[in-house]
Amino acid sequence: MRKPKLRELAEAIRALIKGPYTSKFPKAPSVPPPGFRGIIVFNEDKCIGCGACVEVCPANARALEDDIKRRIRKVIHYQERCIYCGQCVNYCTTKEGIKHTQEYDLARLTKDGYTNLIEKELVLCELCNGVVAPKSQLLWIARKLGELAFSNPTLYLTVYFERSNSFPCEDLRNQPYRALHQRILCPDCRRQVYLNEIWGY
Ligand code: SF4
Ligand code: SF4
Repeated sequence: MRKPKLRELAEAIRALIKGPYTSKFPKAPSVPPPGFRGIIVFNEDKCIGCGACVEVCPANARALEDDIKRRIRKVIHYQERCIYCGQCVNYCTTKEGIKHTQEYDLARLTKDGYTNLIEKELVLCELCNGVVAPKSQLLWIARKLGELAFSNPTLYLTVYFERSNSFPCEDLRNQPYRALHQRILCPDCRRQVYLNEIWGY
């Protein structure tokens, strides 16, 4: 029989005293390294519902659903389809709307509970009732632009109506007269209004 080398012998003695190098998983949780891309969670306060993460997801694991009747946008994450590539986290518009956790144990006995979602209030066009954007996204853009937001009626009206508690959108239509261009409009309606009302085409 081949005699053990001195180094192997030393390692065996060290392992006997200190215990094995391998982790005790699954008896004890294995601690992931820093930067580990674990289960993704929403940060509801920082997500603005813009949908950039949906655009960059290669696995179709993210989706947007707009419910015009309830004026709600759902931002959905299907964990069972996610490949944890981290694209959505990297390209999140606010950089804080979603993050990886250190959690990795997704095993469950049923198919339920794999879908995460958050809801954002939608701002609708005052003329056609189409979706303009989530309110949180318009407020975020206005905050980023500062005084430049006054060049866009949809942005400054959203800020104004939010501060004066005038939402939801249905209530805006009951307000005293405002010219059509002084309304929250989707891009199509704004184009039409400017062409008809201002330029007279
Ligand atoms: S980690 Fe990758 S696959 Fe998973 S939701 Fe984000 S972009 Fe999609
Ligand atoms: S803020 Fe980030 S997480 Fe929220 S919808 Fe936009 S890109 Fe996705």
